[in-house]
Amino acid sequence: MTAPLPKADGTPSFLPYGRQTIEDDDIAAVAAALRGDYLTTGPLVSRFESAFAAAVRADHAVVCSNGTAALYLAAKALGLGPGSKVIVPSITFLATASAPHLAGAEIVFADVDPNSGLMRAEDLEKAIARSGHADAVFNVHLNGQCGPVETIHEIARRHGIRIVDDGCHALGTSYRLGGAEKLVGENALSDMTVFSFHPVKTVTMGEGGAVTTNDSKLDETLRLYRNHGMTREASAFETEQDAFDHSGHAHPWYYELVEPGFNWRITDIQCALGLSQLAKLTRFTARRRALAAAYDAMLAPLAPILKPVAHTDCLPTLHLYPVLIDFKACGQSRAEVMARLHAEGIGTQVHYYPVHRQRYYAERYGQLELPGADRYYARALSLPFFAAMALSDVARVIEALRRVLRL
Ligand SMILES: *Cc1c(COP(=O)(O)O)cnc(C)c1O
Repeated sequence: MTAPLPKADGTPSFLPYGRQTIEDDDIAAVAAALRGDYLTTGPLVSRFESAFAAAVRADHAVVCSNGTAALYLAAKALGLGPGSKVIVPSITFLATASAPHLAGAEIVFADVDPNSGLMRAEDLEKAIARSGHADAVFNVHLNGQCGPVETIHEIARRHGIRIVDDGCHALGTSYRLGGAEKLVGENALSDMTVFSFHPVKTVTMGEGGAVTTNDSKLDETLRLYRNHGMTREASAFETEQDAFDHSGHAHPWYYELVEPGFNWRITDIQCALGLSQLAKLTRFTARRRALAAAYDAMLAPLAPILKPVAHTDCLPTLHLYPVLIDFKACGQSRAEVMARLHAEGIGTQVHYYPVHRQRYYAERYGQLELPGADRYYARALSLPFFAAMALSDVARVIEALRRVLRL
């Protein structure tokens, strides 16, 4: 594995908060795809879809341009549009809200647990009560953890609300359900799960996304909206006089527009990288779990000023390693701490500024009171965390934190 090497003058290299792990066989897989007959819509796309569906134990996987496109496709597949209301927890990347909103839905922001950043059952209940009705909830498995998925499912079912899991952080995460182990993406309690293959995510394609589902009708609709909203399936053709010849055969050139859509397809080049990376998921998962365990152990003495985010009772493959810091008690602002860590070669990031506070949503929906989201945001800081890190890198981060925070 290619760990960041020290620079020529011996100083350790900069540790970003996240990055890809690309190895020689990944590069070879991409080169082989470039020599092939198809650069897009070729055999590697369906091969990736089969491999990904198997990896998360879903019946279907639809791969597309990126995670944001995947969220949008999920919204379109559920028929969300003008008049729809979608509940989204406020601590997430803004695409979780923007994608269903771009499909036409209004967003109802839900609060989160201040210590895990995850939507709780009471947050969902309150959001439903505030909105009057809701059509779907886009639940976020923040950092790679799962919240109370069973209770959320019960509440959603009681209110006739569909569930889309934003699993962009949670590839490889599992949770227990009735004595069995269920993977995020398997959709034991959801209609669809969305993933991203951006370079900071657990496996990457450069850019890429996927939606998994066990519903063949949703799978079909996802594929329709991935490709301009047009169909080449003869069984779906409705303009019969133009579609078929006298003997009832569909014309070989014919396709039909169901509803104008975008091109959210992905290339075979990206799927080649995705297949190569997906084969490493077990190793990347083990590595992320080992790094998280090292952080947990080494950070324990820094409590209560600095604590890892609250653990939930799933088995996570963490995407980020965020800690909650009492900046007031340290006598330093978060910006000062980030700058001093940066000077020590340690990259950090804040995940996330609450989406309900983003100016577009604040102007549209007014100032909402979501104290859990605010309290999580006020303390969150993501530390370097990626599969190519060494355990000595974790120790280096802790030493720098102790110096900077004077702990
Ligand atoms: C990365 C991410 C997305 C968007 O994925 P892209 O591939 O960057 O479009 C959506 N939601 C969450 C929680 C993410 O982390």
